[in-house]
Amino acid sequence: MASQIMFDNVEAFYRPANVREALRLLHSGKGQARVVAGGTDIVVEGDNSVRFLIDITHAGLSYIRHRGPACVIGATTTMAELEGSDVIRALAGGLLSRAARSCGSAPVRNLATLGGNMAHGSPAADMATPLLVLDAAVVLAVARGRRKLPLAEYLTCARTNRYAKALLVEVVIPDPPRGKGCGWSFQKLGRTAVDISLASVSAGLQTDSRGRVKWARIALGSVSPAPMRASGAEQRMAGRILDHALLAEIGAEVAREVSPISDARASAEYRREICSVLTRRALEECSAPVGCSL
Ligand SMILES: Cc1cc2nc3c(=O)[nH]c(=O)nc-3n(C[C@H](O)[C@H](O)[C@H](O)COP(=O)(O)OP(=O)(O)OC[C@H]3O[C@@H](n4cnc5c(N)ncnc54)[C@H](O)[C@@H]3O)c2cc1C
Repeated sequence: MASQIMFDNVEAFYRPANVREALRLLHSGKGQARVVAGGTDIVVEGDNSVRFLIDITHAGLSYIRHRGPACVIGATTTMAELEGSDVIRALAGGLLSRAARSCGSAPVRNLATLGGNMAHGSPAADMATPLLVLDAAVVLAVARGRRKLPLAEYLTCARTNRYAKALLVEVVIPDPPRGKGCGWSFQKLGRTAVDISLASVSAGLQTDSRGRVKWARIALGSVSPAPMRASGAEQRMAGRILDHALLAEIGAEVAREVSPISDARASAEYRREICSVLTRRALEECSAPVGCSL
């Protein structure tokens, strides 16, 4: 007998015109209401306990704005919009638009939203690593108002019930380092171009006039329970010249920091090795515009 799909049990589909109404519907659903944005994750999930769907794509959350010293992206902004936005292409060497372009096929990217990518809480969410590199925060609408928290903190809880009654409203990206000495990279390895990643790495680098690392960020996807920063590797780079010896050292440190699993896509050992390779590649790409001695 064919298994039921989740929409068999849905009694009502709401399309609120603002965040306040969306939040009210979420709270009145008594745990049986779910937010839907692009629907590209939720339809695959098949959760039969869902009785009310709240479509937030008309709640005024599709925007890309400058606000003070930050770029702010509304939760229902799609991958296609991020890919095509001049503001996002100009941000951190186009790091975020490159990641958006790697998310599935064009029809998926026309629906898939940034908020859905974060809220779903997949370790393979492709927008997570560039956003971690950019020190992003998320703004949540909760019963008592709005709450801003670091993206890293949100991602570690996204698969729990902790924020089940919160609506992700926007992602805030503080102005990143810019100018001479800055480089960025997004690396992803999947079985095919439209597959989710076996491993992914984002990196950002700033060096001073003598070529010493002033600022470094490395984030990895699909190799730990949630997308993560490789903080140990970042610290090792501080103040040092990026040469081949340091690249090898950082590759090895990253392989120690990750905790991949074996699954149908790849073994843990393979993923660990790939993390090391992708990190070295990412740092090489970051250092290319900087003109390091690699
Ligand atoms: C064929 C295919 C290929 C894919 N390829 C990739 C890929 O390469 N890389 C990748 O990262 N992903 C990929 N995905 C996964 C998916 O497209 C993305 O994760 C997408 O960004 C999810 O966004 P959505 O708007 O469709 O989320 P939805 O399915 O609408 O929602 C996902 C979850 O988040 C919750 N949610 C959504 N928005 C909010 C919000 N604002 N506040 C609170 N909760 C919210 C929903 O309740 C649900 O639990 C793929 C999916 C498919 C079907």
